[in-house]
Amino acid sequence: MYPQAPPRRRSAYGAPRRKPGCGPRAGIALVMMVGALIAFYGNSQQNPVTGETQRVALNVDQEVALGLQAAPEMAAQYGGAETGTQAAALVRQVGARLVNRTEARTSPYKFNFHLLKDQETINAFALPGGQIFITRALLNRLETEGQLAGVLGHEIGHVIQRHSAEHMARAGLTQGMVNAASVATDGQAGQMAAMIGQTINMRYGRDDELESDRSGLRYMYEAGYDPRALIGVMKILDEASGGGPPEFLSSHPKPANRIQHIQQLIDEQWPGGLPTGLVP
Ligand SMILES: [Zn+2]
Repeated sequence: MYPQAPPRRRSAYGAPRRKPGCGPRAGIALVMMVGALIAFYGNSQQNPVTGETQRVALNVDQEVALGLQAAPEMAAQYGGAETGTQAAALVRQVGARLVNRTEARTSPYKFNFHLLKDQETINAFALPGGQIFITRALLNRLETEGQLAGVLGHEIGHVIQRHSAEHMARAGLTQGMVNAASVATDGQAGQMAAMIGQTINMRYGRDDELESDRSGLRYMYEAGYDPRALIGVMKILDEASGGGPPEFLSSHPKPANRIQHIQQLIDEQWPGGLPTGLVP
């Protein structure tokens, strides 16, 4: 939803401060990364789910691999994954329900839903390939299961619409990044993964957000959740942002505008009104 690193303990790039890597393998990795940055490999592919022709930097397998590789490092930046609790199970269950009852099920992506321990940073985000995260700080503020479905559905939308791979193509980032990560030694792998994580987790554009809101609403409905719960999420985010412009809204549509937009989408998609019996 708001793909951005937490504000604390970060270097300029948002990655945890570490000693810079050295040694030949790191050098090779860096050269490969620079090569990737300079070269332009973005190619057009048809989206396997939506059929849309997109310029993306990675194929589906690479998206999955990169997401899996970066996931532990991303989780670590938010206090690590919370496991074995009811809350973690709820996140997994709601995520699975959304996947199993929507087009996400037939997509080539393997979705995993992680609860992160961070109690201060209100955030949710998706890595390419299906790794989806929500922080404790955000989960604790949600009031209903439908709202959780709203957050996760929106993130599923980012994955299926391949926003990260599109973003990387626009930024000229490519397979070279993946290669660089695999060349790095164990010690540097985490560092490289962090860089990749940060890069692919660059903020989405406004259009990406609105597009994911649209898909999220549809997924919610198809999974039996009331799409109007997403409006509740936006209100919660709006309240949480009180007192100064929150960093996570810097490149995003303001919640107030998104509420308007979401209401409009709901009116368009369900002109006769929504049925009763949906999970709020
Ligand atoms: Zn988003």
